[in-house]
Amino acid sequence: MTDYDYDLFTIGAGSGGVRASRLAARYGARVGVAEEFRVGGTCVVRGCVPKKFLVYASEYGRMQHESLGYGWSASDVGFDWRKLVEAKDGEIDRLNGIYIRNLKNAGAEIHESRAVLKDRHTIYLVDQGRDVTARTILIASGGAPWIDETVPGHELGITSNEVFHLETFPRHVVIAGGGYIAVEFACIFKGLGADVCLVYRGEDILRYFDSDVSVQVHAELKRQGIRVITQATFTEIEDLGAGERRVRLSNGAKIDADLVFWAVGRRPATEGLGLKEVGVELAKNGAVKVDEWSRTSVDNIFAVGDVTDRVNLTPVAIREGAAFAETEFNSNPQKMDYAFIAKAVFSNPPVGTVGYTESEARKKYAKVDVYKTDFRQMKHMLTGDEQRTLMKIIVDGETDAVVGVHIVGEHAPEMIQCLAIAVKAGVKKADFDATCALHPTAAEELVTMREKFTPKF
Ligand code: NDP
Repeated sequence: MTDYDYDLFTIGAGSGGVRASRLAARYGARVGVAEEFRVGGTCVVRGCVPKKFLVYASEYGRMQHESLGYGWSASDVGFDWRKLVEAKDGEIDRLNGIYIRNLKNAGAEIHESRAVLKDRHTIYLVDQGRDVTARTILIASGGAPWIDETVPGHELGITSNEVFHLETFPRHVVIAGGGYIAVEFACIFKGLGADVCLVYRGEDILRYFDSDVSVQVHAELKRQGIRVITQATFTEIEDLGAGERRVRLSNGAKIDADLVFWAVGRRPATEGLGLKEVGVELAKNGAVKVDEWSRTSVDNIFAVGDVTDRVNLTPVAIREGAAFAETEFNSNPQKMDYAFIAKAVFSNPPVGTVGYTESEARKKYAKVDVYKTDFRQMKHMLTGDEQRTLMKIIVDGETDAVVGVHIVGEHAPEMIQCLAIAVKAGVKKADFDATCALHPTAAEELVTMREKFTPKF
């Protein structure tokens, strides 16, 4: 039998790569991991975790305003961007340290280097100028923000890679995109005090969500003063000097800003990894093609996480990594189950969703029942805030199974995580009806919806 340096070599120490490597090492495999940036990957270093800190930060300004309705008074209130960035960086450093320690404690070796495949068992460590070999290779290199490089001046805009380390807090922000990152950062910047304009190429932002969710979030963005321009794209970014930029749009409009932010999607990070050269098949957008076991077209090479462009979420990458390690290193074959994964957009108000949208359900099921409600949360009766909460339940009309729940409103992500357990377990609408309400909460509305919604065609 050929002797390799490692049983498993993982390229990329993000959520999927770290989970797979730690588990494999725990099961006795000799594991090497290469990471060219920072251990922890996008989620920990420049994604979900730092983003959530910014979301929390953006909520305090609003809370201060809201508290006036409850008798508080506020004066001399200020916000220090540098202080926030430093505090956030301190926590990211701590998490980065934990990830490194966990990998090492499990017995994995970390190589701070870019890694490129030379053949199906050989990896070239660029920063070390040497080859290592492995019986099994795992590609977990994630994704990277995409920018439309055909737009003159595109380089004057930043992406989610840079947004966490801005030297100064911007006054006017213009964002391209209408997906997760665009919507979340529009709310973050607005909440922290900037003027924000969102430019989306289509009609409804958050296009992949239930259409009521898209409409509700769109209305809420506008209500809080975010300018939303639809059916337009950036055509040019001009440098006006002194940090000022002018963005020209396809509809002829011009917008001046001191921060231009590209949030037009991410692409799988497969370029220059030597994948095609060793025979690993890639999809048109560069994603690594894998089967249900995360195996690529080369049978000892596997891939998990965003690089495969299946469901691009941290907990999914973690589960794909775990399933791979269980299957390959613990004789415990496991496949990732993609049904009913809860999702959230940390906008203001946030979105929580699980299961099918109404239009997906209408295509899939012969009969669909829809229940929905739209109300102001009790808290806002005294704050004077007009923010509305939407709750929508989609039911398979033949079996009574709840196949989708969509919420736009405060605490929606927390609610949906709990609801996802029930939906995943096959909960029926009758079970919702049989559950006694918890009063006074916003979530009690979920168990008191009795009237079927009849669409007006
Ligand atoms: P999304 O796929 O969510 O959104 C991309 C946006 O860019 C869409 O509105 C899309 O429009 C638009 N777009 C795409 N191409 C162009 C173009 N050529 N010109 C103008 N607009 C364009 O990507 P994000 O970058 O927001 O986020 C990347 C991924 O990261 C997400 O898919 C998600 O998986 C993950 N993520 C998850 C978060 C969470 O769970 N809360 C938070 C942040 C990111 P259209 O809709 O018309 O295609």
